Amino acid sequence: MFETTIAGSLPKPGWLAETDKLWPAWRAEGTALVRAKRDATLLWLKEQEDAGIDIVTDGEQSRQHFVHGFLEFVEGIDFAHKVKMGIRNNRYDAMVPVVVGPLKLKARVHQTEALLLRNHSRKKIKITLPGPMTIVDTIADRHYGDKVKLAMAFAALLNQEARALERDGVDTIQFDEPAFNVYTSEVSKWGIAALHRAIRGLKKVKTAVHICYGYGIKANLDWKQTLGGEWRQYEAIFPALAKSKLDQVSLECLHSKVPLELLRLLKGKDVLVGVIDVASDRIETAEEVAATIGKALKFVPKKHLFPCTNCGMAPMDRDIAVAKLKALAAGAALARKRYR
Ligand code: ZN
Repeated sequence: MFETTIAGSLPKPGWLAETDKLWPAWRAEGTALVRAKRDATLLWLKEQEDAGIDIVTDGEQSRQHFVHGFLEFVEGIDFAHKVKMGIRNNRYDAMVPVVVGPLKLKARVHQTEALLLRNHSRKKIKITLPGPMTIVDTIADRHYGDKVKLAMAFAALLNQEARALERDGVDTIQFDEPAFNVYTSEVSKWGIAALHRAIRGLKKVKTAVHICYGYGIKANLDWKQTLGGEWRQYEAIFPALAKSKLDQVSLECLHSKVPLELLRLLKGKDVLVGVIDVASDRIETAEEVAATIGKALKFVPKKHLFPCTNCGMAPMDRDIAVAKLKALAAGAALARKRYR
């Protein structure tokens, strides 16, 4: 009961990449970088295990950014001539690569990380991938000329990698779709169909989708100020997700203005409830975490509730992230006693 997991990313150590940044530059190159990524992945695996996290991730130590880490392995994309583009409905500008030809995977994307986790841990392991809608919102297109066509092309590649990850022994594959909260009307039109394309043929793995209000960066915090007293974006998309073939939905909960009764709309799904705030450096107490779990329990049955972080912890301080992992596990342990 109450198996814990995290949204996905963890801060990169200072010897691997620049710290406190969402798009950090690597500190090494070539073989040294390959080794540094591997060491950082193992380090975070150990930290998660020691903290008591049940479903562990690679902390996304091998990718510079959660979307571009995947795109680097895709043929048909020009990374040399990035263009400036407003993303998440122009919430902020990013320098994005451009699709210039038919898309194809150049190689396996996350096999190294998946096998590292599998060979070094007996815990359940999770690998995250960017969702198709979020990818097309984070890249410019000069080839497909149609957003949905482009999303489906990416979904086919995600499916290819997801099937291979299943063969590697991964237990959960999660697609990150922060764009679902921005383009809510497009989720039922094609967003979920694209995810269905991405999970086609998967048999053993659990499939998850993470939908949040973004990392704790200024552009996102400012955006949240404009969303009013109650955040009801989830209300527009949860009914369609409840009918989808995905097993789990990961969402933002603690300190957000999401009315918790909306969780009821995910009937039948596992819900990864965000009980750790990634936009604040204050460490939650176990008591607070258990209390948030208690509140969510009113709307999510015990067997479907997985305590999680609100979002990734990539841009955070490393020591704070470790303390938050411990708080997450301690809070879940307390909740197990309390809500047995
Ligand atoms: Zn997130």
